[in-house]
Amino acid sequence: MSFIDLHAHSTASDGTFPPAEVVRLARDAGLQAVALTDHDTTDGLAEAVAAGQELGVEVIPGVEISAQFTDNTMHILGYFIDFRDGRLAERLAVLKEARKERNPKIIAKLNALGIHITMEQVERLSGGGQVGRPHIARALLESGYVRSLQEAFEIYLKNGGKAYVAKYRFQPAEALDMIRQAGGVPVLAHPFTLGLGSAQALKEAFQDFQAMGLAGVEVFYADHTPEQEALYLRLARELGLLVTGGSDFHGDNKPDIGLGKIRSRHRLTYDLVVALKEWRRKEYGVG
Ligand SMILES: [Zn+2]
Ligand SMILES: [Zn+2]
Repeated sequence: MSFIDLHAHSTASDGTFPPAEVVRLARDAGLQAVALTDHDTTDGLAEAVAAGQELGVEVIPGVEISAQFTDNTMHILGYFIDFRDGRLAERLAVLKEARKERNPKIIAKLNALGIHITMEQVERLSGGGQVGRPHIARALLESGYVRSLQEAFEIYLKNGGKAYVAKYRFQPAEALDMIRQAGGVPVLAHPFTLGLGSAQALKEAFQDFQAMGLAGVEVFYADHTPEQEALYLRLARELGLLVTGGSDFHGDNKPDIGLGKIRSRHRLTYDLVVALKEWRRKEYGVG
């Protein structure tokens, strides 16, 4: 049996290990393939792919794009992204600009609340990657304003928190299109974050996204209950969507999650990768 992980983050977004290190950890975990899927960036992919060639691990160049879906979280994974073609990076750069403006806005709100943290402090804590709310949370913790990262989100940073600033997002159709334009396979990440209560509502959402170009659903995921997993698997089969899974590894930012491990009944096997490749072959005529 060869095992895989199709969802991992590096310092190119909000993970704590550099891309090459994530690949080395994948090798140490005995994985045959790992997908690097940083939030809204392809910056870590060249390093990860090179490390994979050196270490004998198949690195699937990926991305995880945030999309606008009500007030809830919609993330779309893209697999086998042609990251050397600069168009996707260019379109994602819009978000980078928006994010640059967002962080100072959050810090200004915190400052107005009498909390003395600075952009420099937050940048230092980011270790040179994307700067975002996890690093602001760390600055709040470091400066003693909160007792945990979770508390920082609860009180200040989450949607509805005292220092929350809304994020610029792509529409689902835009995000799906961007992935397809880059030769990628678009997959809906962790469907539970859509916040849809009933199986019927979820099925309709899957169908809508499928009509916009969605190819698959991340069925196997650490935070999915066995009931959710079974439901997503059933819907994916009914609708002819691909099934994927991954740990959503973030290094020390999610210390209880290791590469290649999800709290599921079984580990993820290479046949999921074969299905992704098969889809690409049919859809784009590429191997
Ligand atoms: Zn996600
Ligand atoms: Zn993720």
